[in-house]
Amino acid sequence: MAESKRIMSGMRPTGRLHLGHYFGALLNWVEFQSRYESYFSIVDWHALTTKYQDSRSVPQQVFEITLDWLAVGINPEEATLYVQSAVPEIAEIHLLLSMITPHNWVEREPTLKDMVRMLAADESEAREKATYGLLGYPVLMSADILSFKGQLVLVGKDQESHLEFARDVARRFNHIYSADFFPEPKPEFTVTPLLKGMDGMKMGKSYGNDIKIADTADETIKKVKQMVTDRTRIAKSDPGHLDLCEVPWPWYKAFADEQLKATVKDECENAKIGCVDCKKRLGGLINDRFAGFRERRETLAKDPDKVFEILHYGNTKARKVAAQTLSDMKEIMGMIDWSKKEQNWLKVAQNS
Ligand code: SF4
Repeated sequence: MAESKRIMSGMRPTGRLHLGHYFGALLNWVEFQSRYESYFSIVDWHALTTKYQDSRSVPQQVFEITLDWLAVGINPEEATLYVQSAVPEIAEIHLLLSMITPHNWVEREPTLKDMVRMLAADESEAREKATYGLLGYPVLMSADILSFKGQLVLVGKDQESHLEFARDVARRFNHIYSADFFPEPKPEFTVTPLLKGMDGMKMGKSYGNDIKIADTADETIKKVKQMVTDRTRIAKSDPGHLDLCEVPWPWYKAFADEQLKATVKDECENAKIGCVDCKKRLGGLINDRFAGFRERRETLAKDPDKVFEILHYGNTKARKVAAQTLSDMKEIMGMIDWSKKEQNWLKVAQNS
């Protein structure tokens, strides 16, 4: 039975998800969905803040990410799974919140500078890429959370500043309108084992060093073969060092049970196995763990109407909640809710 607390989290639809997404976020989402009232959003407007030229690819990306989520066990009967742009109330809430958010709050957001730096080669390109929408993304993110009055937000440590921002916005709204309306969302940090990319660097789809949830067994084995191991180990007869094994050992720690980890340690440190065979076994382990997910994903991919139906169901549920939040906000702000035919709008006007 889910606790009454609401939990919220979202992902940008920018491509098929990799195993870092699974261990860093989705695994926690699956665990939390039965414990809390959960809202999981495919934040497609956020994708446009940096990839506005690629807007036509968004529907396909929404489809792909939904397949990934469903395949790994996000359950639309337990969690509300929805697309941000299917809930236009979020946009209106974002607009209202943008009116009360001082612009220097947005400008000081540390991740914004990093994003612009990543997007642009020089100053003039930065001016063009740093759009109004990009500048306002922390407010949109606040609207994502506050539309559902999320009390807990599942985030990685690196996203803590976003949540701090949303908390400030919630506090400011409550203060300006003398209302105890928005809860101040608290972080629920996801536990992320350090899964590096095949080259030993941070795993990322743009770096081409990841393993996707949707990869086939053969693709996975091929990628695992590229994993950087202990660089000091030249010959098979050289003992290996787990602390120097850059990729396979940390992955074993994420995938293997205690018994297998002890076997790997013994075989590596005593030169009983070569890195090629050790990686082959790891590839098999990954494939075993993801075989069921991949099968489910493939089946769902053949039935886009069903996937659409699932999203439609979640979108409808999400809209109801966000519409209530918007209506309550307007009442607190003394604004007219034009969606209500029966209200005495002059009385609203006189009371304000
Ligand atoms: Fe890493 Fe396995 Fe090679 Fe040891 S044997 S260095 S754990 S790949």
